[in-house]
Amino acid sequence: MIACRVCAIMFGLTFLTGSACGMELELDAWQGEHVLYESSPSLQVCQGTHAWVDKFVPFVAGELGLDVGRIQHYRWLDESDYTCSPEIIGCTSGIQASSLRPFLLHELVHTILYSLDFPYQPFFGEGIAFAFDPWYGENLGIRYLVHKKGAEKLADPRPYMTLGRQDLSYPLAGSFVMFLLARHDPAKFLTFLRELGTSRDMNIIEGAFRAAYGLELDDEAESFMTGVPCTEQSFGPGLYDCTSPEVPWTGDAWSFHDVMDCASETVAGGVGPERAWSSIRSVTLEVPATGFYQFSVKSDSNRIGVMLGPCSSCPWENSDVVVPSPGSKIAELEAGTHFVRIQAPSDETLNFEFSLRPAALP
Ligand SMILES: [Zn+2]
Repeated sequence: MIACRVCAIMFGLTFLTGSACGMELELDAWQGEHVLYESSPSLQVCQGTHAWVDKFVPFVAGELGLDVGRIQHYRWLDESDYTCSPEIIGCTSGIQASSLRPFLLHELVHTILYSLDFPYQPFFGEGIAFAFDPWYGENLGIRYLVHKKGAEKLADPRPYMTLGRQDLSYPLAGSFVMFLLARHDPAKFLTFLRELGTSRDMNIIEGAFRAAYGLELDDEAESFMTGVPCTEQSFGPGLYDCTSPEVPWTGDAWSFHDVMDCASETVAGGVGPERAWSSIRSVTLEVPATGFYQFSVKSDSNRIGVMLGPCSSCPWENSDVVVPSPGSKIAELEAGTHFVRIQAPSDETLNFEFSLRPAALP
């Protein structure tokens, strides 16, 4: 447990604070409503990072039906300040998340649950962190992290539930927890965590599952492996990008052009002395009617990546569309809210232009 030794914290101040090993670290600090964000002075935080990290806390709490807990601490550290194991990119100690990345939101899921006194069990603890940050903060990617090929079943999650963190399959744990959160009231998952405690004993896991869900773990694991149909009752868990501002349509096309710039309050990311991390920015749009649409991307760099996906969907559907720059794709979209996530290098300022318009059948 790390205690901040500073009594009064003000925006943008550099101050001394306690670290895990008792050394004094000199860090830049930003105090948000929910998160105290600190960073090594050698690192330049993109302007939108603080708010992106801060608002993640009420998002997760809201998705789980929890009250927002205490202030969380997030530290983006350079290698000389970093005290987690060097093989991993982030770790937590109590409500203190530390990472080599400007916004590894995964770690905040751990601190939020810790601050509300939820016990940590490796498979389910890592699973829920993955479920709310499937792209590890800055990546583009797929939501459900394991895939069924044809009639093949997914891997059995049960043998992994008794393993320690080092031996886990994080993608499998994340996908199984997404499956549970999509199919059942999230409150049942929280009841399950409390019933389970920190146990890795299969009998206790099965008993806690039965007590929380009124179901057999074996039956849910089998349904996960064989797959279930996607219905409106199995949308979820929510996606943080879907809380982003909406860009409206103009006439019968949707278009959006702007600049990815680390100095913009809409862009999360960061630059260090030796490298730049990915920056991201997300917006939302309303698809007016189910049908085929052409999504086109233009930019002055091919180093921009763009992903479009539905906000209401089953995580195993993987209906997100990744479009290269420059490029375009025709995809069938369901009516409803979608997100667009833009990824670029944080040390470049890039113009981009997107459009979405109804298309003929491909
Ligand atoms: Zn984790």
